[in-house]
Amino acid sequence: MSTEQELQSRGGSKCELCSSENNLNVYQIPPNSNDSANQCVLICDTCQQQINNPETIDINHWRCLNDSMWSQVPAVQVMAWRMLTRLSAEGWPQELLDMLYLDDETLAWAQATGEGQTDEDAIKHVDSNGAVLAVGDTVILIKDLNVKGANFTAKRGTAVRGISLVPDNAAHIEGRVNGQQIVILTQFVKKSN
Ligand SMILES: [Zn+2]
Repeated sequence: MSTEQELQSRGGSKCELCSSENNLNVYQIPPNSNDSANQCVLICDTCQQQINNPETIDINHWRCLNDSMWSQVPAVQVMAWRMLTRLSAEGWPQELLDMLYLDDETLAWAQATGEGQTDEDAIKHVDSNGAVLAVGDTVILIKDLNVKGANFTAKRGTAVRGISLVPDNAAHIEGRVNGQQIVILTQFVKKSN
């Protein structure tokens, strides 16, 4: 049986989100779906368009989630969770979301595309006191640091001006000491005012 046939039979040949019977497609759930039925949903054109183009969203269309979120199929639960999260500012989707229980594994899958994450979840560099560091800040070293690969010790109390932040590592910043660009651990610096 093909994935599409499997999905047709699972969903009763209807859109698994809104129950429409027209223009149904197999939708592979991002980010890492293989095309097996348990990682896909069968959805209509209308749902698919709006999932892919958030700016075209018709909020009332998604009242269908009121029913489909109770599906026993994890793939459907994941899509319901993502759309409710995307629309949560409208009020009623948040109420549905509050009632929607996903087991840990399904929740992790639902969250895998970062839906609903705000800048607050973004990586943050903080100094030894928890003060947020920004590009261009000046920091003071709070202990002597042996600089790997260079033949000197950066002394406690040294001011490092115009730091840059290592984007994918909250524990690392870079700055110039003794004319050399070095990586410094944020836990060993204090932001200078
Ligand atoms: Zn639909």
